[in-house]
Amino acid sequence: MNIIIFGPPGAGKGTQSKFIAKKYNLVQLSTGELLRKEIDNKTELGLKISTIINSGELVSDKIVSKLIEKFISNNTYKQRLIFDGYPRNIDQAVNLDKLLKDNNQNLDIVLKLSVSLETILRRILERKNQEKRKDDNEEIAIKRYKTYEKSTEPVLKYYQKSKLLNVVNGESSIMQISDEISGLIDSIKGWQ
Ligand code: AMP
Repeated sequence: MNIIIFGPPGAGKGTQSKFIAKKYNLVQLSTGELLRKEIDNKTELGLKISTIINSGELVSDKIVSKLIEKFISNNTYKQRLIFDGYPRNIDQAVNLDKLLKDNNQNLDIVLKLSVSLETILRRILERKNQEKRKDDNEEIAIKRYKTYEKSTEPVLKYYQKSKLLNVVNGESSIMQISDEISGLIDSIKGWQ
């Protein structure tokens, strides 16, 4: 089972990915977390991308593609990935299709967490106190939301065409959202 989880910043992608990974023995592949790790470790790449991330823009497709390629081509993770934060634009979606195909894999389901801007801002400010992410402040959060609307929302149409897209109400409680997602995953034929 390969899953994509979409949603604006603060929608709960990370929380839900961790839940699905545990319940279905899958692997969470968060491009945001991988990028933040590079910044924390002060690698050459980390130094290059920190300004971009902290301005709410997207890092280049080439950089992120390299990160996910390592996972897709690793046999241990074959058909066991949850893409959390990738793809974020149409070119990345096309690239993902190609990488999966080249590695004899496919997508089983695309989940979109639907959340209002008001809820996003509230959650991001709450998260700032817990996780201390530099890009979690109101100004950058709005910028990240705009980037999502401009670059990422069009990707949903791409998956609507392939009938893989399922919209989940991201406004409900963490448990309710997890239950709804489990129901969708369990309903996939041939799975388990
Ligand atoms: P996230 O943790 O998913 O909210 O991502 C944090 C930040 O990392 C984003 O605002 C982007 O700057 C960067 N990022 C994460 N995933 C991608 C991606 N697929 N393409 C480009 N930039 C990304």
